[in-house]
Amino acid sequence: MPPSRVWNYFTRSSDKSKATCNLCKQEFVYKSTTSNLQNHLDGQHPSAGKRVSFIIIFLTD
Ligand SMILES: [Zn+2]
Repeated sequence: MPPSRVWNYFTRSSDKSKATCNLCKQEFVYKSTTSNLQNHLDGQHPSAGKRVSFIIIFLTD
C-alpha cells in the first residue's frame, strides 16, 4: 500500500498505535486504517481533509 497523504497531517507514535494531528495536536488511536484520521481532517480542518480524501480515493480505487 502506498503511503497516504494523511500522514502529512499526522505524526505516528513510536509504537504506531496512536497518531497526533499536526494541526491541532489532538491524539487519536490508530488501527490499521486512516479513516478516523481522515474524518478528523474533514471535520476540523476541511481544507486539508478535502485534499486528503481525494488522494485516498484515488489510491484505493
Ligand atoms: Zn486536527
